[in-house]
Amino acid sequence: MCHKLFQEYHCGCIKIACITPCPHAIAAAAERIPTLCTYFFTRKLPKSAHPCLKCYMQPQYADYRKRWMDDYRAGHPGVTQEIERLAGIEQIPGRMGLVNVEREMERMGSVVKREG
Ligand SMILES: [Zn+2]
Ligand SMILES: [Zn+2]
Repeated sequence: MCHKLFQEYHCGCIKIACITPCPHAIAAAAERIPTLCTYFFTRKLPKSAHPCLKCYMQPQYADYRKRWMDDYRAGHPGVTQEIERLAGIEQIPGRMGLVNVEREMERMGSVVKREG
């Protein structure tokens, strides 16, 4: 059977972090048949200290966002623009976990640096 890995966030939301197909599913995918098992082994990651991205934009996490952006500024001297807009966080609906957003921020940060 294939494996599903779940991540529970601070806000209480639970999302699939990762799906690991079993050899059977991998063999099927090689023939371009998307076949994951109907039943999965499930595992849960330790509860995240972060809210999920959907909740991250909600008012109750305003302090959290501020802290996070202060941290970002501290680690990126010279960044004075509106970080949320710069990072495009506002435009990213809950399709990514917050960890991915941080990675995305780093990627965009390096792009900005290259352009500058
Ligand atoms: Zn499977
Ligand atoms: Zn949430």
